[in-house]
Amino acid sequence: MSLCIGLTGGIASGKSTVAEGFAQLGVPVIDADQVARDVVQPGTPGLQAVIDHFGTPVLTDSGELNRPLMRERVFNDPAERKALESILHPRIRAALTDWRQALTAPYGLLMVPILVEGGFDTICDRILVVDVPEETQIERLCARDNNTPELARKILAAQAPRETRLERADDVIENTGTPADLAPQIAALHARYLKLAQSGS
Ligand code: ADP
Repeated sequence: MSLCIGLTGGIASGKSTVAEGFAQLGVPVIDADQVARDVVQPGTPGLQAVIDHFGTPVLTDSGELNRPLMRERVFNDPAERKALESILHPRIRAALTDWRQALTAPYGLLMVPILVEGGFDTICDRILVVDVPEETQIERLCARDNNTPELARKILAAQAPRETRLERADDVIENTGTPADLAPQIAALHARYLKLAQSGS
């Protein structure tokens, strides 16, 4: 069976940037955020479950999930966040498990922001954490998504703290330098994962 590497890190730590580097080396990558969107597409049982709980105001005029509105709602109310998670997580887990079982490459990357918090780490053989200080995360998050620092801090507070992620890490990529500094770290890990896959561990 192929190796499954769980790629995680706080929001805006650089997971997508790192995943792109592995993808360029031909490594299959699945993005749990994309899966999370897929499971609530119009017409899915997932979206129906969201509507049953939250009501139709969380839809856009075209019947899609209004994600910015949902985000505001759940990041301001822990109970609502739990409710949304209990709808999404089992569906995301099923899709990721299917992907893992269908893998034929030596290894694949499963990119999940809440790998540990969501319990998705149990699908993976190893955990790779992209690490930056929280202030860097907040700066890059605000620059990328045009968020206020206040919302950025709430989003960070809803995720596992940096130390918790690092404790679970088998491998760490430091993303405090420039994007170009990532390439040698990715190449070294790629060689390592191919070797591990070959030795069947
Ligand atoms: P994630 O997928 O973890 O949320 P991204 O890969 O989207 O994070 O990175 C967050 C933002 O920071 C993006 O706009 C990205 O282009 C930028 N970024 C990533 N790595 C670096 C870096 N080393 N230096 C500067 N900006 C970076």
